[in-house]
Amino acid sequence: MTPPRRPRPHALATLAVHAGEGSHDSDSPVVTPLAQSASYVQEVGASEGLRYPRYGNTPNAELVQRRLAALEKAEAGIVLASGMAATACAMLALLRPGDHVLACKWIYGGTMQLFTQEFTSLGIHVTLGDPMESRAWRKRLRKETRAIFLESPVNPTCRVLDLKPISYIAQEEGLALVVDSTFASPVNFRPLEHGADVVIHSTTKYLNGHHDMIGGAVLGTAPYIEEVRQKMMLWGGAPDPFACWLLERGLKTLDVRVRRQNENAMRIAQWCAGRKEVRVVHYPGLPEHPDHEIAAAQMTGFGGMLALELAGGARAAERFIRKLRLIRHAPSLGGVDSLVSEPRHTSHTHLSAEERARLGIPDGFLRLSIGIEDAEDLIADLEQALH
Ligand code: PLP
Repeated sequence: MTPPRRPRPHALATLAVHAGEGSHDSDSPVVTPLAQSASYVQEVGASEGLRYPRYGNTPNAELVQRRLAALEKAEAGIVLASGMAATACAMLALLRPGDHVLACKWIYGGTMQLFTQEFTSLGIHVTLGDPMESRAWRKRLRKETRAIFLESPVNPTCRVLDLKPISYIAQEEGLALVVDSTFASPVNFRPLEHGADVVIHSTTKYLNGHHDMIGGAVLGTAPYIEEVRQKMMLWGGAPDPFACWLLERGLKTLDVRVRRQNENAMRIAQWCAGRKEVRVVHYPGLPEHPDHEIAAAQMTGFGGMLALELAGGARAAERFIRKLRLIRHAPSLGGVDSLVSEPRHTSHTHLSAEERARLGIPDGFLRLSIGIEDAEDLIADLEQALH
């Protein structure tokens, strides 16, 4: 007789459907009920254990927090009202006035503004470091530095940063390494496995995956997440229960969606690379991408995001967007519908054309978020728009 199989840890696809769920009693619903209540009955004479949506402890928030922690292999997690709320509270939990944060200069435009406008007005010093400089990270450290912040892959250029040397410095210097992993999703990259201390997501993107809610998440150790919760409660960044319900529902298909998006993006990137109208394709899955080897070593998928620079520049890009039929011109990313956007009119609109060009985002740069449609249909749409 063959011995019974030993239980093994659940794979990501299973965790995305089940992690953190409640009992399997005979009358338990398969679909998580939505508890939209803004108030919960309190025990007489007790102030502990109070449930209130702003505290981040509604049943829908708690379930999705457990699930995201399982997906990122974190001790704990917290969900917030947006990706920006997640970044703000994650950093406020680490920094005090007088502290310094070393951030990569390749970050989402909103995060850049949060750091350079809001944090500096709170007395928190920020350096935006150039990861291409030699000894980039070590050189910019100060004695007040408390954290290193980066994004990988980078929005919108799709550059990929090697976490190994950076996490080594962070560990050696006793700094928190914070990684915004929105572009990757845990299907393609799990930063905590590569030395990060904190992971941030805009759950608005891949984790929800349907362009129908806004949210954010922070993952890390339990005591740190408790600090983030304190910030969230007082700065008012908690999510609505329905957003948590939509996030949990979206997470169930995370693995199949992202795998399909990876496949579609690779086919589209390869197709675009062979077109004379396309000057550059930015996709880490292509061998000619500057970070292809890092991505291949560090990630488990190359992602559904890519960027194009057309040979005809900004005018060609606008004409191309107008001609697209299936792929819609809209901000945001990571959902089942393919979208195209021009960062100069969205995430990086606060910078001058020269500043954007220095960040690798020249006018006419197009960001594509590839969805789950049929790849041939998407290619046909791109082809007719390039003509
Ligand atoms: N981080 C990245 C990489 C993003 O692309 C975005 C939004 O586009 C955010 C954070 C902010 O997320 P949200 O719009 O959910 O606040």
